[in-house]
Amino acid sequence: MINSEKWTGRVVKTFGENDVANVHVLEFPGDKPRLIEFVDSLDPRYDRSEKWCINVSTQAGCPVACLMCDAGGDYRGNLAKEEILEQIERTLAEHAYDGSWQARKIKLHFARMGEPAMNPAVLDVLRYVAKYFPSDSFIPAVATTAPRVGLKWLEELKTIKNEHYSGGRFQLQFSVNSSNETMRDRLMPVSKLSLPELAQFARTWFQSGDRRISLNFALGRGIPLEAEIIASHFSPENALVKLTPINPTARSNSNGIETVIAPESPEAAAKLVHELEKYGFEVIVSIGDPKEIKIGSNCGQAARWVSEMLEKHV
Ligand code: SF4
Repeated sequence: MINSEKWTGRVVKTFGENDVANVHVLEFPGDKPRLIEFVDSLDPRYDRSEKWCINVSTQAGCPVACLMCDAGGDYRGNLAKEEILEQIERTLAEHAYDGSWQARKIKLHFARMGEPAMNPAVLDVLRYVAKYFPSDSFIPAVATTAPRVGLKWLEELKTIKNEHYSGGRFQLQFSVNSSNETMRDRLMPVSKLSLPELAQFARTWFQSGDRRISLNFALGRGIPLEAEIIASHFSPENALVKLTPINPTARSNSNGIETVIAPESPEAAAKLVHELEKYGFEVIVSIGDPKEIKIGSNCGQAARWVSEMLEKHV
């Protein structure tokens, strides 16, 4: 299943803790160095024999450059199918003999560096995984801002989900971040689907047995999120709400975006949770382990080391 002779990358740095997360910085060849990160992590609620996660990059840097994410800037293009697969295979190879392959769930996140809906190779990877890693343990999870240029990509993703990952074996997450379109444009400076368009897509996405689309909001102080507006567009039948912190990144700091929820203030969004639940939404408050933030394995924290290394022309 894994042929390391095909790998073209070189791991130039690894940091983390085995019982939390390990971040690997991988350099791919090219005219200019292309440095990306991939992460091997545990869900703090589960033992590795139950569930673990592989989080891969889909682009070198990210052209979207969201205001709270360190992956933006110094964009160096899409990764090839083989380069995305290499990140998955390297992580699997690390665990070839410790029983991890028998885990009930191996979450395969396409959510490290890059906007997956801008890279057609991600679709090829998903087809490849379905064909060559034919295990029900693999649950792909794609997080996207839903850029307008990725509309055809999203339609193709729906076909792949229906053909290869039905019955709840696929998670699609829209990074929505605010109920106010002007604020969404500020936070995620790319032409993207509006709230009504996201809601329409969610209706056509969902089939019986599927996971509902996750509407992710990284809660920042002063960023509008009104339950009534969300409920006017989306249905709890095909969408749930996930609330996460604004992680401490260089860009969130320089843009003055402060988090609402944090490990020390998990109840800060209680009123909002209650309002969303009144409209029938399932609400997941996902704060994560403080150790993940320290390691730098959390969402938006990509590229901390990559930027430093590029500056030194590694
Ligand atoms: S949050 Fe995602 S889309 Fe936005 S800059 Fe970071 S990697 Fe790119």
